Amino acid sequence: MKKIIIVGAGIAGLTAGIYALQSGFNVTIYESHAIPGGASTSWRRKGYLFEGGMHWLTGSSPKAPLNKLWREVGALDDSVPIYNRDPFFSFEYQGRTAHLYRDIDRLRQHFLELSPEDEKEINKLCRDIKIFTKVSMPITDIKGVRVKTKNSIPLTTMVGMLPALPKLFFYQKLTVREYSNRFKSPLLRQLLEAMTGPDFMAIAMAFTLATFASGDGGYPEGGSLAMANRMARNFEKLGGTIRYGKKVSKVSIQNGIACGVNVDGEHIPADGVIVTQDTLVAVDALFDPPIQEPWTQKMRKNTKPMLNTFISVGVEADLSDEPESLAFYPDEPIVCGDVPEAIIGINQYAGYQGYAPEGCTAVTSIIGGDTYDFWKTCKENGTYEAEKQKLAEAFIRLLSKKYPQTDGKIGVWDVATPLTYERYLGSYKGSWMSVMEKGSKMESYPSKPESIQNVYFAGQRITSPGGLPIAAETGRKAVQHLCKDTDTVFQGNL
Ligand SMILES: Cc1cc2nc3c(=O)[nH]c(=O)nc-3n(C[C@H](O)[C@H](O)[C@H](O)COP(=O)(O)OP(=O)(O)OC[C@H]3O[C@@H](n4cnc5c(N)ncnc54)[C@H](O)[C@@H]3O)c2cc1C
Repeated sequence: MKKIIIVGAGIAGLTAGIYALQSGFNVTIYESHAIPGGASTSWRRKGYLFEGGMHWLTGSSPKAPLNKLWREVGALDDSVPIYNRDPFFSFEYQGRTAHLYRDIDRLRQHFLELSPEDEKEINKLCRDIKIFTKVSMPITDIKGVRVKTKNSIPLTTMVGMLPALPKLFFYQKLTVREYSNRFKSPLLRQLLEAMTGPDFMAIAMAFTLATFASGDGGYPEGGSLAMANRMARNFEKLGGTIRYGKKVSKVSIQNGIACGVNVDGEHIPADGVIVTQDTLVAVDALFDPPIQEPWTQKMRKNTKPMLNTFISVGVEADLSDEPESLAFYPDEPIVCGDVPEAIIGINQYAGYQGYAPEGCTAVTSIIGGDTYDFWKTCKENGTYEAEKQKLAEAFIRLLSKKYPQTDGKIGVWDVATPLTYERYLGSYKGSWMSVMEKGSKMESYPSKPESIQNVYFAGQRITSPGGLPIAAETGRKAVQHLCKDTDTVFQGNL
């Protein structure tokens, strides 16, 4: 039986591991952290559970093609309740609040009440969302692989997607801000911009709305870490081994063929290596010399990393009457990394069992933007902890203004900076997805290099913009390449 080593037990690594085991390989995952999940994680502090790696899961709906993949790897099963948050996002501006509802007719009605003068654009947006609900991420087989169960896109699905094509071109050409400027209402404009970010391609906004409208994009109970733990248990049940606290320093290459990895100065032999550390870092850090192929150069040049500073606060107050995900302009902008954040988003988990002690609420906020250099300087000049505290205190002040019932009721706070993510994930600047701005293409990089045999890549960076579905899909694809190269039948059941 061929021995495969996987670098990383994030969602890509676990997915690859499960499919490789099912296809008859002997698999060991080396994971630098003490737990599985990578960016798909959450953490407990003083009885509060802070969700740190998933707001919604594409493929949570049994109707989505991706759902079968999530079930096949054990990420989801019938015993896992899915929360379909509704409204899934709200924006407050000048005393009025606009909501994004899953039901398109309800959304249309709500928008019309808020801004009758935007009727034409509202109707067009709602029609387009309906059309985009027919588009889903296909799970297909690579060319030339032998598979137990063949996977192709049904003709009816392809035909159903056709009306979306001209719309795709329209939304792809615009940023969210350029698109939202078509609306007269500042409230609606800002609601749409705040959901994804104003500089994103409008197509990301349209697809997100369509994901929710099609009944997808739910939140599995227990969140990120519980999902990763289910996958890790499934992997181990199938006979795989995870070596935690073991950082791979290099992939060993002999005569252009990967023959194992180096861990703690020891060479561990293997017949193949699947690398799921952020590819952008791995092609330099894990290979000596670094991989210099046209696609790695392109990745180095074109990647715009998505990263954030993550604030989590446990409040001794019940916020269940407040919106679960709300963005608004605070009286005073929060300054993170010397950059004032005009709009702040608050996620609260009062409605979720076990996320906080009775009567209390876990609250999180993502401050976007590339503040990596700021935090790096703080680390170097010794102000890192003080700056984290300053940020948390500013957020807590803001929170108590917004929700006076939280004033003086802070049970715990925590700040994760891009440096925290970098330390745990080994990813570029601590990023966990790529930003897709106007003009950027949806890049898809190869699963294997041309210059080295028996090495495969998977993970969020392989196809932009990344995220959980991409991590899983690229993990599956890497194993299909492995099966093809070793003339093995891929056993996935999709
Ligand atoms: C705050 C936040 C919110 C998010 N929200 C969503 C969302 O709502 N929906 C969505 O789809 N996605 C979301 N994401 C993104 C998603 O979580 C990630 O894109 C995805 O988990 C990436 O998985 P991965 O396996 O590719 O990489 P990673 O999660 O980075 O996994 C890589 C693993 O490899 C390990 N590793 C790295 N280097 C080495 C080494 N040299 N040796 C051994 N081990 C190593 C790391 O410790 C890690 O466990 C969010 C992420 C964050 C942070």
